[in-house]
Amino acid sequence: MSGILAGKRILVTGVITDASIGFHVAKFAQEEGAEVILTGFGRLSLVERIAKRLPKPAPVIELDVQNQEQLDGLEGKIREYLGDDASLDGVVHSIAFGPQGAFNFLEASWEDVSTAVHVSAYSLKSLTTACLPLMEERGGSVVGLTFDAQFAWPKYDWMGVAKAALESTSRYLARDLGAKNIRCNLIAAGPVKSMAARSIPGFEELADVWKHRAPIGWELSDAEPAARGVVGLLSDWFPKTTGEIVHVDGGVHMMGA
Ligand code: NAP
Repeated sequence: MSGILAGKRILVTGVITDASIGFHVAKFAQEEGAEVILTGFGRLSLVERIAKRLPKPAPVIELDVQNQEQLDGLEGKIREYLGDDASLDGVVHSIAFGPQGAFNFLEASWEDVSTAVHVSAYSLKSLTTACLPLMEERGGSVVGLTFDAQFAWPKYDWMGVAKAALESTSRYLARDLGAKNIRCNLIAAGPVKSMAARSIPGFEELADVWKHRAPIGWELSDAEPAARGVVGLLSDWFPKTTGEIVHVDGGVHMMGA
């Protein structure tokens, strides 16, 4: 098998529909030669149905990142598929959730905010450490997805704060895991019409910015550019890049007006 991920074993989270960025990551990873294992949250039969649309079969392991028992069991479940002396070359964190209250900055309760931060930011640490025994011998690449947290966006509110925490978490992971040759990077994607996006009240208003400000254009229904960015960071073509945030946003991040 040829391709930039030939022979690599990659765990991909966050597949729920074929609009999920995670689905496209899994697809391109397989096309580039990787063996892919998926995790699913709750609705496993739905994830399994979507997984059938991938070029090759991919097993699905249940994982709620708020469930410590499932995190503790993840290594064992992966070994059931890959074998006892197996290793992972890459882990993709494509998970975010904010309760509706988190999208009202001044009214949000700590309960809403803490859920958003737990699922969307702390989970990068808990997922990575859960997979660490499978990566620490040979090294690997952890890649997550952010929505550029440098700015106060319309409507994004405490999810923006959770993404700022995710970005910081990624840097600390990069610091602490560098000695094991484990890289940790993020793709800062432009808006994509996924399930998570649809649950953001006022997503259209947020996405509207891209219509006018992306110098190379941006397609809301296209998860492919972000997914290709993730696959690039999973590959051996960024061997000395860690703690980085790569913008895959049509260029919006660098426009002044
Ligand atoms: P998506 O298809 O809805 O994926 C989000 C995934 O997170 C879903 O599979 C969801 O599962 C899962 N999830 C939620 N709570 C979880 C938990 N407790 N444990 C494990 N998984 C959980 O949306 P997406 O747009 O592809 O999002 C993937 C990533 O890209 C997220 O980090 C998102 O913030 C980021 N991103 C998205 C955009 C965008 O505009 N879409 C832009 C920049 C960055 P359920 O659906 O079953 O709840």
